[in-house]
Amino acid sequence: MSELHVLVVEDEAAVRELLSATLEGAGHRVTAVPDAHKAKALLSRDLPDMLLLDWMLPGMSGIEFAKWLKRDERLAAVPIIMLTARDEENAKVAGLESGVDDYVTKPFSTRELLARMRAVLRRAGADDSKVIRTRGGLALDPVQHRVSVDNAPLSLGPTEFKLLHFFMVHPDRVYSRAQLLDMVWGAHAYVEERTVDVHIRRLRKVLEPAGMESLIQTVRGVGYRFSEQAG
Ligand code: CA
Repeated sequence: MSELHVLVVEDEAAVRELLSATLEGAGHRVTAVPDAHKAKALLSRDLPDMLLLDWMLPGMSGIEFAKWLKRDERLAAVPIIMLTARDEENAKVAGLESGVDDYVTKPFSTRELLARMRAVLRRAGADDSKVIRTRGGLALDPVQHRVSVDNAPLSLGPTEFKLLHFFMVHPDRVYSRAQLLDMVWGAHAYVEERTVDVHIRRLRKVLEPAGMESLIQTVRGVGYRFSEQAG
């Protein structure tokens, strides 16, 4: 991970200091504030690469703040990792529903936190890319949320769209079902690995009339690959 500017919003001074030390130790730049109010002031003049947001904050809660951020055009793209205590199961679900990208349960290890940050950035990079992807007549426009073959639009479900987008950003590489779940559905999606097969099948079905279903290749015993070259 290259150097990031991380904004930490956490009211407990000890946790704030621990996070700053951990992240600075990993080569990142950290700004740490105790509440949403101070975070807003900072965000008005600086855009961090990532936000580590405590769930229980005085004043505006972490959830409310996350919702507020996601409504703001400029700030919505900043990935958010929510920090929760072990007994806050509901917080996790509510957090993911409010647009938080991931969560980490306190107390957490440095390794876990950094791994989560990497995964979130990877997904954010794939999702936020505004680049139109093309492959042999197939085109995917992430901004307009459209897929077409030789300009004829295809109708894809939201998961098939995300899956195809991921594949088009990462062609010619094999991904296991677990990796696809992690990168397309998110690390905490409550789905089984066979769900991947269901959506792969749907995606192939949409591509079939255009004769493009063979772009999604099954690699026996490993997973799936998106490639124009015969598997
Ligand atoms: Ca707190």
